[in-house]
Amino acid sequence: MSMTMNEYIEEAEKDLLHTYNRFPIVFDRGEGVYLYDLDGKKYLDYVAGIGVFALGYGNKEYNDAVKAQVDKILHTSNYYYNVPAIEAAKLIKKYSGMDRVFFTNSGAEAIEGAIKTVRKYAYLKDGKTDHEIIAMEHSFHGRTMGALSITGTEKYRAPFEPGIGNIRFAKHNDIDSVKSLINDRTCAIITETIQGEGGIHPSDKAFLEELRKICDEKDILLVFDEIQCGMGRSGEMFAWQGYGVKPDVMTSAKALGCGVPVGAFMMTEKVGQNSLVAGDHGTTYGGNPLGGAAICAVFEQYEKLGVLDNVKEVSKYLYEKLDELTAKHSQIIDHRGVGFIQGLEFNCPVGDIINKALADGLVLINAGTNVIRIMPPLVIKKEHVDEMITILDKVLS
Ligand SMILES: *Cc1c(COP(=O)(O)O)cnc(C)c1O
Repeated sequence: MSMTMNEYIEEAEKDLLHTYNRFPIVFDRGEGVYLYDLDGKKYLDYVAGIGVFALGYGNKEYNDAVKAQVDKILHTSNYYYNVPAIEAAKLIKKYSGMDRVFFTNSGAEAIEGAIKTVRKYAYLKDGKTDHEIIAMEHSFHGRTMGALSITGTEKYRAPFEPGIGNIRFAKHNDIDSVKSLINDRTCAIITETIQGEGGIHPSDKAFLEELRKICDEKDILLVFDEIQCGMGRSGEMFAWQGYGVKPDVMTSAKALGCGVPVGAFMMTEKVGQNSLVAGDHGTTYGGNPLGGAAICAVFEQYEKLGVLDNVKEVSKYLYEKLDELTAKHSQIIDHRGVGFIQGLEFNCPVGDIINKALADGLVLINAGTNVIRIMPPLVIKKEHVDEMITILDKVLS
């Protein structure tokens, strides 16, 4: 079967549930930091599959490691041990400083596990079932019921109420707002270290430090969602490492597998020893050998390619160039972010700009209606910054 791009799109709209307003493009393959559609048109990628393809496309050693695991064994079940998952857990512990790892298949599932962890921790302390979790306004944690219930954007939640209940929303970066919600039923505070979908809002250092202090004083668990901002995107392996504020529980996904769907939630030993036990939680596919092999290959390539150093270096240049663009175009009213998770806020919806950029061969995505999210693969070089700026400047002029 060989059809045109438009014919495929028509088929898709007949067969797939319409839960996305997709751009009218069928991507066919990738190479380095470029994507190609079915017609062979080339695009510079500044979305990276929404923060997934940290290594870009076609990293040979990563691909070979995944292929070798396909030929060896894909799945065994969590009733048995497998080497790739054991090695992947070791690497996650090494880079995160966390002590216990549970593997999932997605970010939302990692969040579900984190929620169960903090509830169980509190339950073991007092035997009660009325514990509250404080989450942040404008946060995003995923689409499953638990993750949705702690997501701060009301329009995502409204049609699906009631959620899991006992969730309170505080203002991100407003410590008084958090304090006003704390009571003796509060069992956890959760925040993205850098808010992604909500418009690229980094947490303030003082805010995270205050959260840590409150949590320590009251034995409340601090949970950082690093699904989007983690895995090197901020310039540190996990964004909280740049703040020097360590969570009790954290989540990862997206770039953790660089294309193979994996996620994880991790915790300190103290939480690990006082929360989920055998029978409390499980998954069929989570922690399968394929995912484990992918995670191991990702960390190996990060070391080999010096990914964190590249992010630190090239993101400074990216920041300067985006600042220049912001000064030049009055439609842009704010520029913020760190590393390769930056945002340009406009005084208007950004849909048209994204469409024009796509026509000119640049893949961009929004974060909320008025913010363009700048989220390239972590291996881009300065020349790719220049290429992006040239196209975006032209589109805005
Ligand atoms: C994408 C994302 C999720 C959800 O991950 P999925 O893999 O899509 O379920 C959760 N939290 C944050 C911060 C995200 O960016």
